[in-house]
Amino acid sequence: MTTNEHLMKTYAPLDVIFEHGEGAYLWDTNGQKYLDSLCGIAVCGLGHAHPAVTKAICDQAGKLLHTSNLYQIDNQQHLADQLCEVSGMSRVFFSNSGAEANEAAIKIARLFGHKNDIDNPAIIVMDNSFHGRTMATLSATGNRKVQAGFEPLVQGFIRAPYDNIAAIESIAENNNNVVAILVEPVQGEGGIQIPAPDYLNRLREICDQNNWLLMLDEIQTGMGRTGEWFAFQHNNIQPDVMTLAKALGNGVPIGACLTNEKTSDVFQPGNHGSTFGGNPLMCATASVVIDTIKTDNLQKKAGEMGDYLVNAFKDKIGQLDGVREIRGLGLLIGIELDSEQMEQDCANLVKLALEQHLLINVTAGNVIRLLPPLILDQQQADIIVDTVSKLVIDSLQNKAAA
Ligand SMILES: *Cc1c(COP(=O)(O)O)cnc(C)c1O
Repeated sequence: MTTNEHLMKTYAPLDVIFEHGEGAYLWDTNGQKYLDSLCGIAVCGLGHAHPAVTKAICDQAGKLLHTSNLYQIDNQQHLADQLCEVSGMSRVFFSNSGAEANEAAIKIARLFGHKNDIDNPAIIVMDNSFHGRTMATLSATGNRKVQAGFEPLVQGFIRAPYDNIAAIESIAENNNNVVAILVEPVQGEGGIQIPAPDYLNRLREICDQNNWLLMLDEIQTGMGRTGEWFAFQHNNIQPDVMTLAKALGNGVPIGACLTNEKTSDVFQPGNHGSTFGGNPLMCATASVVIDTIKTDNLQKKAGEMGDYLVNAFKDKIGQLDGVREIRGLGLLIGIELDSEQMEQDCANLVKLALEQHLLINVTAGNVIRLLPPLILDQQQADIIVDTVSKLVIDSLQNKAAA
């Protein structure tokens, strides 16, 4: 028997313990099998217990876990080469989490500002955004629930509505201390908010006109999930800074902050660091994740399977009163329910899905969020569509009857 007695109450976990997994499936301690349509919140893109990932971890663990960034690390250099090749960026700093990757981005923006004689640099961040739980990243986050009680917040952020170019132009007119925009290409925690198709292109133009850095938080969107390696590749632009984490290690903790020619020389020795960041074990694992996505063309498959899922959902429940919108980019999918369908019902849907042996998630109060692994096959996709559709229909009918 285990209890939660000695764990801090940062989470309120559901009443299930998973013991092992394989591909898109998990098994609990009672031997019950579940289809995983969340994959650890967009982490296990290759699914569970992927043989190539397991082998990389075991081989590397038998050789060397950790040295220090005081020495050169072959695996880290190799992973950086791979990341730059698929992203078109030029240098990488490795961290242990997404929040830390964003911390690096924020520090780069401030240092870039100071190097350009801006004494009080500010970064534009969006309403409804999520960038992490450290002090700087929760201050950048556009969600009062994440910030409340932790004031004083870190200064130096200017907030703007998401997917609103006029608001950014107005900030440009009224401020001379802006150094960067930090933005998610699709807002994940914010409810799978997908901006206008040319949003990133317009932001790129404004950044170029004003000598601001365009910094993309691709922690949830990156590593093939949206149908491209990185979401910005749908727009044919390049960011000045990009952050990654989640799916980069398929479950081992690793994050990355990538820079281009404009930003690669901002950090100099002594400006930033991490004890664990980029250690041999994490990098060996992430390298195999990249190899596997590439060999199996998983980003392309994610795009196709995502379209299949969204269309199937639109067919089944798209016309229902109570279903406000079904939207997705690759395997980043949101089903937004009416606001009367409040948080209580949505949290309940997660539990009901678990009873049906399907793992889903609800975010932003009324958006069912589906983040299945990139290896999902069509039969598994059909199970997700059937199960979720039935739960939504039942829940709306119960509501009508009540
Ligand atoms: C999850 C997430 C983060 C935070 O990553 P952690 O590894 O939990 O620190 C930051 N930004 C986005 C967009 C995320 O989805």
